[in-house]
Amino acid sequence: MSRRFQGGRLVIASHNQGKVREIDDLLRPYQVEVVSAGALGLPEPEETGTTYVENAVLKARAATMAANLPALADDSGFAVLALNGDPGLYSARWAGPAKDFTFAMTRVRDAMLASGSDDKQAEFVCALALAWPDGHAEAFEGRLPGTVVWPPRGTKGFGYDPMFVAAGGTLTFGEMDPDAKHAISHRAIAFRQLIDACFRA
Ligand code: IMP
Repeated sequence: MSRRFQGGRLVIASHNQGKVREIDDLLRPYQVEVVSAGALGLPEPEETGTTYVENAVLKARAATMAANLPALADDSGFAVLALNGDPGLYSARWAGPAKDFTFAMTRVRDAMLASGSDDKQAEFVCALALAWPDGHAEAFEGRLPGTVVWPPRGTKGFGYDPMFVAAGGTLTFGEMDPDAKHAISHRAIAFRQLIDACFRA
């Protein structure tokens, strides 16, 4: 039986403005008072997990202990089949210290060319973990398959959005309005599970 969020303040355990904005949007219907880890000045823990779920739980637990409030963390990534799932867990790190995603997308493109494969399949993955100060945690994972496009298109999203078209779609995530992305994204898939388990009465 999942534990339910009982209302009040919830820390979004992320320093990534793109993620905080999307999570804030997705939580809006549930009257949650959201505060970001950045606004509370919480440190970013090292992501030492070997799966998205492990990293999300690790980040949620670090934030809940530091803030003494329930905390929600997202660990996500962009996995390219021809690159054996890279950048995957290291998606943020591929952008370098400057967090330059034009550079990261070019790295992905160059690695795909170097792989000699013309397989364009990719997926976005998102794990969400909700943790409480007593150490309890719940975790959920969403995956969305699609294809890599080049050159990147659109300026509406963040990260690798401009180089990804979801299966059955034509627009990149960078070209889609936020509501359209939220309706289908890996984050939305994980979110639906989280809401059903922990937020709905
Ligand atoms: P982390 O979860 O903080 O390790 O970072 C995940 C990285 O994956 C982000 O910095 C983005 O580069 C990428 N990523 C995760 N979700 C998305 C998304 O919805 N759109 C584009 N890029 C994403």
